[in-house]
Amino acid sequence: MSHFTGRRAAAKCSICGAPAVARVPYARLTLCSRHFMEFIERKVERVLRRAGALRRGARLLAAVSGGKDSAAMLTALARITKSNGVEVVGLHLVLGFGPYSRKSREAAEEACRVNNIPCIVLDLEEVLGAPVQAIARRARRPVCSVCGLIKRYVINAAAVELGADYVAMGHNADDIIAYTVKMFLNQDLAAIAKLGPSTESIDSLAVARLRPLYEVTEKESLLYAILSSTPFLHEECPFRPVTPIEERVKEFMNRVEEEHPGMKINYIRRLESNIELYKKIAGIEDWDIQQCQSCGLLSAGNECSFCRLTRRTLGEAKGAYIRRVIRELAAGLATRNS
Ligand SMILES: [Zn+2]
Ligand SMILES: [Zn+2]
Repeated sequence: MSHFTGRRAAAKCSICGAPAVARVPYARLTLCSRHFMEFIERKVERVLRRAGALRRGARLLAAVSGGKDSAAMLTALARITKSNGVEVVGLHLVLGFGPYSRKSREAAEEACRVNNIPCIVLDLEEVLGAPVQAIARRARRPVCSVCGLIKRYVINAAAVELGADYVAMGHNADDIIAYTVKMFLNQDLAAIAKLGPSTESIDSLAVARLRPLYEVTEKESLLYAILSSTPFLHEECPFRPVTPIEERVKEFMNRVEEEHPGMKINYIRRLESNIELYKKIAGIEDWDIQQCQSCGLLSAGNECSFCRLTRRTLGEAKGAYIRRVIRELAAGLATRNS
């Protein structure tokens, strides 16, 4: 897909003939603003429908970072769920990375506000009693990996406490391709098996995940956020590694896509249909499900990785405490709504 500039500005929408704003070579379409947005919303709707999430009374917790992808996801979700009784709640985690985090929070709250979606904000430094960077330093691990672990835990804990049926994550198609290629290079097939458009809930231990932007590329997500006037932060996280493998894969795939339109969408659709196969190969079906003895959520052993991390770096396992804090926030939200 590309943005029209200069001499191409005269192109017309394949559907209605209005001036086009986007070209989608893999679908052989040029689209006006309205039909481009509908094109994206149909992709998002497909993920929700196939996961069974479009039913009256379903509650969906959307992780909102404040970036373009979460902005696009939020607006598409708000539009799609408007008429079918699905409730969307936003969750923003304040990471404590200085001005970047302050601006991220503002953008996330704005994106929720313009879409009329309640937004729960959780300050990680406040609830953990230490900044994420300090925890990473004490654990002798990269900030990104510790930050990712903490976010995954807190998002799932929040979904459990809020009684959400699904958690929506803003990973776009390029993110998913890059991550799965990286995992293939590592021959970590179990990691690939977890990257379908949706995962199922595990009792009261883990809430089902949705990736509404599964078939939406990075450029499409950006254009959708712009065309829908959803506020978002343009800056990248200051702790982002300089040369992540994912970035190299993205550059490579963008070159391939230019020469062979449709490669990305084919990859992502084949990946979706092969997920069960990856699960089988990785033996995921046979993994026994355990409950963390400290916090009661999903764990691969006696204690979950979050409780182990916080025990080692902060002197105590924080899972149960985090769950309590979120429960109180959720109670506040319920009173505000009634
Ligand atoms: Zn049109
Ligand atoms: Zn735990």
